[in-house]
Amino acid sequence: MLPEKDSKRLGEKDPKEDPSVTLFREYLRIKTVQPEPDYDSAVKFLERIASELGLQCQKVEVCPGRVITILTWKGTNPQLRSILLNSHTDVVPVFEESWRYDPFAAFKDSDGNIYARGAQDMKCVSIQYIEAIRRLKAEGRHFPRTVHMSFVPDEEIGGHKGMEMFVKRPEFITLNVGFALDEGLANPSDTFTVFYGEKCPWWIKVKVEGNPGHGSRFIEDTAAEKLHRVITSFLEFREREKQRLKSEKHLTLGDVTSLNLTMLNGGISFNVVPCEMSAAFDIRIPPTVDLKAFEEQLTAWCRAAGEGVTYEFHQKYTDQSMTSTEESDPWWKVFSGTCKDMNMKLKCEIFPAATDSRYIRAAGHPAIGFSPMNRTPVLLHDHNEFLNEQVFLRGIEIYAHLIPALASVPPLQAEI
Ligand SMILES: [Zn+2]
Repeated sequence: MLPEKDSKRLGEKDPKEDPSVTLFREYLRIKTVQPEPDYDSAVKFLERIASELGLQCQKVEVCPGRVITILTWKGTNPQLRSILLNSHTDVVPVFEESWRYDPFAAFKDSDGNIYARGAQDMKCVSIQYIEAIRRLKAEGRHFPRTVHMSFVPDEEIGGHKGMEMFVKRPEFITLNVGFALDEGLANPSDTFTVFYGEKCPWWIKVKVEGNPGHGSRFIEDTAAEKLHRVITSFLEFREREKQRLKSEKHLTLGDVTSLNLTMLNGGISFNVVPCEMSAAFDIRIPPTVDLKAFEEQLTAWCRAAGEGVTYEFHQKYTDQSMTSTEESDPWWKVFSGTCKDMNMKLKCEIFPAATDSRYIRAAGHPAIGFSPMNRTPVLLHDHNEFLNEQVFLRGIEIYAHLIPALASVPPLQAEI
């Protein structure tokens, strides 16, 4: 837990600390933790930033208690499509007893590592956007394209009452988005990972019916036997994908289908053979997989398991939009070119899980998932999540180059 010495300093300003780091730590202390995030405090914090920076602030309540906050820096040619810098305000729960420090104190150790839930996912990025814009505004810079920062709730629980609703609202359409940046992942090496697509999550519950009876007898066609066959087919497929990832060196987790058996249900008593059982699977499918053929395969495995085997979807995402990483793409050319100018090594991947970028892409806008954290272990959702202040500060510098470049992309064919 939090050492005595630092707890006294909490909330006090360290005169030697970079003010951007102080602001980051302040934001980390707002408890926007699921399942009951303090969104009101986050919105108040963002309103304060908007007035500090002289940015327009718009709040869109997509459903009760779920507000999207948009800070806007108007371009000199606001007719052009805008740049959207998106981040989510919520963070995942913690097991406090497993943390070295209080996860909402934003303790900084002598190496400059800042420990807090959200340090990587993704309060760092929110403050990096803000601080890059603060710097550019202080330098008196102006760019043709409008830049919007959107701060959205509920990403960590699927974004259904957040970005998924927002992209369908007239207020989103009015943003006139040309290109979006959203979250990525840390990379322990020198390289920065960027994500141009995401897997489709499918949550499937397979229900099997069978003959019931007394637990002392050999009943024919029991639910358990059928479920055994279903689980075997699904887990054999899992093993094949796992081996493929292991043996083909160029593949990453984003390139193969992951599958896990996550829940088993059924039965009422030790001595009763039940007439119904079920198994739940979490499947994540790369955007390059033929979804129709994949579902036919699932159906075939269920059919082969016997009579009375059915499945239902609890989540079935089918949009497979990917953002272009071709040199001919004007947005990618500027994004990757600017990174190259800063001597950054990029690695393009499919995001192994799901983020709000999928809703932006599904709405027809290119989006790149990018959290500028190299030389950093991937600790999202882990105990003792931290980010080093030097890596954090370098991220501000990176955005201070990316934002001007993207906001100055010349008018595209469709905009003339
Ligand atoms: Zn996140």
